[in-house]
Parts: sequence; structure tokens; C-alpha cells
Amino acid sequence: MLKESVKEKLTKIVGENHLLDRKDQLLVYSYDATPNFQAMPDAVVKPGCTIEIQEIVKVANEEKLPIAPRGSGTNLCAGTTPTAGGIVLLFTRMDQILEIEEDNLTVTVQPGAVTLDLINKVEEKGLFYPPDPSSMKISTIGGNINEGTGGLRGLKYGVTRDYVLGLETVLPNGEVIRTGGKHKRCSRV
Ligand SMILES: Cc1cc2nc3c(=O)[nH]c(=O)nc-3n(C[C@H](O)[C@H](O)[C@H](O)COP(=O)(O)OP(=O)(O)OC[C@H]3O[C@@H](n4cnc5c(N)ncnc54)[C@H](O)[C@@H]3O)c2cc1C
Repeated sequence: MLKESVKEKLTKIVGENHLLDRKDQLLVYSYDATPNFQAMPDAVVKPGCTIEIQEIVKVANEEKLPIAPRGSGTNLCAGTTPTAGGIVLLFTRMDQILEIEEDNLTVTVQPGAVTLDLINKVEEKGLFYPPDPSSMKISTIGGNINEGTGGLRGLKYGVTRDYVLGLETVLPNGEVIRTGGKHKRCSRV
């Protein structure tokens, strides 16, 4: 269970609608698609942007609370099961496809974007996003990246890692780093 002071800090960051800590709410996030793994989190927190993630991570760091990031929980290796308790960081609010750049064939998405939504959106423009896990109707790009997900089309076209050019990442101390960019090669100064 979260200390009241920690709950207050987290609520201040995301708002009370985006923090779950009732037992019946937590139960839903105590397992994923992996058989035989279950553990209760202390809270489920739903960030709406990078700044909120930074603030949540800082609180978790100060309070020594583990974080289990979660897209749709379809992984098969208990990656989102909060085996040490703490916070499940749920990305359902960050599900936008922000930009499709047809000229240089890149898309920019939030981590909670659903795989099939991305596939459909680029196909509307006559483009092709190959990674096609069987879970694509609900799996998220954040989960796909972390699992190196692929499907049948991977045999010919490769898997998710072959299509990631850049990432914005929040480190455990709350610092944000950016890797890569919209081009095959780029340098940052
Ligand atoms: C019915 C079914 C069919 C499947 N078919 C396939 C298949 O064909 N091919 C295949 O490769 N896999 C398949 N899988 C496995 C699973 O769907 C994939 O691993 C998928 O990529 C997980 O996506 P998710 O959004 O559910 O991620 P989650 O299960 O929520 O998370 C997966 C991992 O990523 C981490 N994570 C999630 N979001 C973030 C984030 N924003 N930042 C940091 N870490 C994050 C989690 O902590 C966890 O470790 C299948 C699973 C099921 C249940």
C-alpha cells in the first residue's frame, strides 16, 4: 500500500483520475499474459506526457518504489508483473500517432499507440509498417520495442527493432535522453 504522502505527491502529478490504488483496481494489473505470475502493485499511475513520467520516476526513486511500465500487458515473460510491488506505469493515455512524414518515411508515436492503429494509419497513405505480431490489435509500440516483437512478415521484412530510428527515454533519475533521430544517420551536438 502507498504511504499517504506518496499518494499525494503522485496525485498532484497526474490528477486523481489517473491514479488507481483500490484493491479491485490493482488486481487487474497484478498479472499479464504470462501464466503463473501474479503480484499486487501498490498503485497504478497513468502519465499523460513525458514531464509527468519524469516527475513520477523522481518520486519513485526518492521512495525506492520499483516501477513496472505497462502497455497492454500481452507480453509472455512477466515483464509487467510487479513482482516487487511498487508502481505500474500504464501508458494507455499516451496512445497518439503524432506525425507521419511521408517524405522521409518516418512516424512519430507515443509509446501507448496500438500497433494495428499505426499499421492502418500508414496504410491509408499507401505506406507499409511491417511488424505484425498476432497481438497487434491491442499491443502497443512501447511494448513492441521492449520485446523486439515481430510476426510472420518479420521473415521477409524484419521485426520492430529494425524500424526504430530514435527514442525519447526517461532515465531512472528522471533525466530525459534522446537517441537517434528521423534519419538513418544523424549527429547531435
Ligand atoms: C495472443 C498473443 C499473441 C502474441 N503474438 C505475438 C507475436 O506474433 N509476435 C511477438 O513477438 N509477440 C507476440 N506476443 C507477445 C506480446 O504481444 C508482445 O510482446 C507485445 O509486443 C507486447 O506489447 P504490450 O503493449 O502488450 O506490452 P506489455 O506486455 O505491456 O509490455 C512488454 C514489456 O515492455 C515494457 N514496456 C511497455 N511499455 C513500455 C514503455 N512505454 N516504456 C518502457 N517499457 C515499456 C514492459 O515493462 C514489459 O517489460 C503475443 C502475445 C499474446 C498474448
